[in-house]
Amino acid sequence: MLKEIIEKVQKKDQEIRDLGYMSAVLNWDQEVNMPPEGLEERARMLAYLGTKAHEITTSDEYGALLDEAEALVDELPQLERDRLKELRRDRNKAVKVPASFVEEYSKATSLAQHHWALARKENNFAAFAPHLEKIVQLSKDLAGYLGYEDHPYDALLDQYEPGMTSRKVQSVFEPLEIFLQDTITKLKPNLDKVSDEVLTRNFDAKKQEEFSKILMEHLKYPTSRGRLDASTHPFTTSLGYNDVRITTRYYEDFIQTSMMGTIHEAGHALYELGFAEELKGSALAEGTSLGMHESQSRFWENVLGRSYGFWTALYPKLQDLYPQLADVSQKDFVDALNVVKPSFIRVEADEVTYNLHLILRFRLEMALLDGSLAVTNLPQAWNEMFTKLLGITPPDDAHGVLQDVHWSIGALGYFPTYTIGTLYASQLAVAMEKDLGSLEELASKGDVQPVLDWLRAKVHVHGKRMGAEEIVTAATGEGLNPTHFMKYIQKKYSALYGVEL
Ligand code: MG
Repeated sequence: MLKEIIEKVQKKDQEIRDLGYMSAVLNWDQEVNMPPEGLEERARMLAYLGTKAHEITTSDEYGALLDEAEALVDELPQLERDRLKELRRDRNKAVKVPASFVEEYSKATSLAQHHWALARKENNFAAFAPHLEKIVQLSKDLAGYLGYEDHPYDALLDQYEPGMTSRKVQSVFEPLEIFLQDTITKLKPNLDKVSDEVLTRNFDAKKQEEFSKILMEHLKYPTSRGRLDASTHPFTTSLGYNDVRITTRYYEDFIQTSMMGTIHEAGHALYELGFAEELKGSALAEGTSLGMHESQSRFWENVLGRSYGFWTALYPKLQDLYPQLADVSQKDFVDALNVVKPSFIRVEADEVTYNLHLILRFRLEMALLDGSLAVTNLPQAWNEMFTKLLGITPPDDAHGVLQDVHWSIGALGYFPTYTIGTLYASQLAVAMEKDLGSLEELASKGDVQPVLDWLRAKVHVHGKRMGAEEIVTAATGEGLNPTHFMKYIQKKYSALYGVEL
């Protein structure tokens, strides 16, 4: 009886997971290979798979199965209990939202995404505004269905960062904002001390791909369980427990984009590849939150990938591919990777200014959701706040409020997870150094295995069995804390720019 129920639950779980993986196959193909006219049919197939998974999750039969299993919870092995908890959480979320809403939301967001892309191209916010108004309204409705205590934002944020609240985010963002603004003020008169000119020499794209593969190997990202392709926007996707793929993009006049993109996405992939084998095929074989996911990508990309030691083994290989770097020292090359330059586009931002882009978005989203800011006034609010935070004013809306896809796909509440990830990355790095010694030294030995092993044991292996703050508390002795990131920035950029920060 017990065994039979466990097997039934496992089978359903696997079925739901497989539908997700099938969607991932179609999505990956759409981004990497599909000719443009395939779009309409592809959208229909993806909608079908999405509906199918939703149908299973919300069905009475599945609900009864979970009830039956829960009645036996005391007899279940721990893994099955954890699985059941996760499946119940997913079902609760799914049944709270009416099917008619899911359909309306899906239509509104696919329309909005289309009009956002046009509006950005034509630099015409007015054309996107009515769609964004609709999305804001639907997001408020969604928050109402999902439920919250303090602020509708909490319900939306919880989808991406379970357990996190807007109040907590605010309390972390406030000191961070003050610190970053102060840092930028001090760096400003010194910004021309470091240049990234060496990264803008002409770099053949084919060789960049070759180097990205060298990077993957260096990071212990196995091609037996993954692969690298090119796409307009870099991403990581799991097509199965043993099939985790990444993409990057190649700019011949700026080599940084492909290299750091590859390291970033490989960081995401290593997390997905590190879930314990026993979690395979279950709802627990997923990143525990987007913040934790981003902590992995940003750890590899910034903390390690922008350190001097990391390049000791790799830079000679890059120089072999590109003789135009023969006259550039390893130090000058890594300096260039760390240049600070206040700019308009979030995805191109450096480590110092990056989080100000996110603080801006968080504040605006909060105001849109509680009604204190109207969509029509959004561009003005964006430009004013941007000027205050970064000291420069966007020349137009394409370089301002229209730059990100997130709002058009309904992902309000998503942005803070990028900053949460950055902060977790620094916290984890501090704890790692206590165990392993200086990361600079370790990285310069050319073998990242001890680093990967540490992350595997402390973070990856748990999948969704532990929450993000629970994992970080177990690994570092405390929950989300911005202090470690601030110290990291202070130390690194004081040295680079020769100023007391
Ligand atoms: Mg990422």
